[in-house]
Amino acid sequence: MPTVPATDSEDSTAFERREALKEVLAQARGCVRCPELAATRKTVVFGAGNADAELMFIGEAPGASEDEQGVPFVGRAGKLLEKLLEEIGLLRSQVFIANVLKCRPPGNRDPLPVEIENCQEYLLRQVELIQPTVICTLGNFSTKLLRGDPTGITRLHGQPEVLVLGKRAVRLYPIYHPAAALYTPRMLETLREDFGKLPELLAQGAPEQPPEQEPPELLEPEPETQPASAEERAEADQLGLF
Ligand code: URA
Repeated sequence: MPTVPATDSEDSTAFERREALKEVLAQARGCVRCPELAATRKTVVFGAGNADAELMFIGEAPGASEDEQGVPFVGRAGKLLEKLLEEIGLLRSQVFIANVLKCRPPGNRDPLPVEIENCQEYLLRQVELIQPTVICTLGNFSTKLLRGDPTGITRLHGQPEVLVLGKRAVRLYPIYHPAAALYTPRMLETLREDFGKLPELLAQGAPEQPPEQEPPELLEPEPETQPASAEERAEADQLGLF
């Protein structure tokens, strides 16, 4: 059921991938796959940063500030994320930051399995189009989703592994969620230590890629979302997200 526009992103240029990402953004903005989230959100928080980033962070879901501003990680956890990035010589604008869910769960409740399922196509398309070398999953939700395994972050944090997502292999690097570290000094220490290993991981470059496979048979997309208006698409360009 590929409803999010597909391109042969492996062979396309950074410009084409960025344009395709804007298409996905436009589509996500009209998404009504989760009726409760669609009815209660103020904005769809698609993601922000460099659309050609080597390093991508994936959190859980937008909170109240993110829902207001339409940008991920702008609250207290976001400030911590920015600080930790700065400590390793990176700016937020050099990475791409997204979440498992693009809409805020009411009252900041945990994402429901059905919501994760509904939203994962957007995230996988983002990964496919951005083509990061390293994906840093922040906390349990994104780590479990990308690994397709229930092993928790306490066991996995700080241990990079090579993971094939779609057609590409990436270096997955699970770390604690900054929100969890805000109130627990020991966790913050661990998070900072794990962050410290990121430059070395990035320096390793892309992992060996899997052999090319025959392209899958294309199915007709089923329209399932409200079409984005020309106005919304123009706005995407002005957000400075890409
Ligand atoms: N926590 C998240 O997981 N994502 C955000 O965007 C903000 C807080």
